[in-house]
Amino acid sequence: MTPGLRIEDVRFAYGAKTALDGVSFTVEQGAFCALLGPNGAGKSTLFSLLTGLMRAPHGRLEAAGHDLGRAPRRALACIGAVFQQPTLDLDLSVLRNLTYFAALHGIPRREAEGRARTALARLSMEERAHERARDLNGGHRRRAEIARALMHDPAVLLLDEPTVGLDAQARAALTAHVHDLARDAGLTVLWATHLVDEVRPADQVVILHRGRVVADGAASVIAGPRPLTDVFLSMTSRRAA
Ligand code: ADP
Repeated sequence: MTPGLRIEDVRFAYGAKTALDGVSFTVEQGAFCALLGPNGAGKSTLFSLLTGLMRAPHGRLEAAGHDLGRAPRRALACIGAVFQQPTLDLDLSVLRNLTYFAALHGIPRREAEGRARTALARLSMEERAHERARDLNGGHRRRAEIARALMHDPAVLLLDEPTVGLDAQARAALTAHVHDLARDAGLTVLWATHLVDEVRPADQVVILHRGRVVADGAASVIAGPRPLTDVFLSMTSRRAA
């Protein structure tokens, strides 16, 4: 089966500063992968490459079998992304935010509303379709952004630290919703975070440290008998290579 995401020997530097130093990993279709790393590990850089904001000078990135370097339009059509900075238009209703996004993707208007309702239902947000984004709490705004990222029916969903600024309850709800999307809708999810408690034992975990993958496997296997937090901290401490 073609993997949802394949990243092979990707290198990237900002001038003399190396941000990614030969990163390789694969996420199978329908899997939830937590990309764990402390600040500065290279998570946002990898997201910028995967969303086409920057190009990798070395290595290969594939979404649902499409090479981002050679067939960027086809690859990007398979990717939905939620960035750290919120991007909803606060003066529009949730539904309008989604249908405007659909228009940008060339989805016909009569089809867009149906897709929006389906996407909102997947995030338990259908009852908020007509609320102004400004009137939503932080957790619901985030869910609306995820619903919007699903409008073009991507195979892969990328989320860059999506729970930043949310309280514990909203964080838990969002994490559960996205796990359900991977399980029920077969979406491949890459969830960047530095918060280990967002990871479940069966999740794939890729630990990034100073631009390198220092662990890749099921969370329960990487952690073994120790708490994952301890393993993560010891692998990414200042002294760790
Ligand atoms: P993370 O998202 O894991 O916090 P980043 O991808 O933002 O990590 O950063 C990886 C490395 O690249 C860090 O050392 C950071 O200081 C550096 N970096 C990120 N963006 C820039 C930039 N625009 N210019 C120079 N260095 C950068």
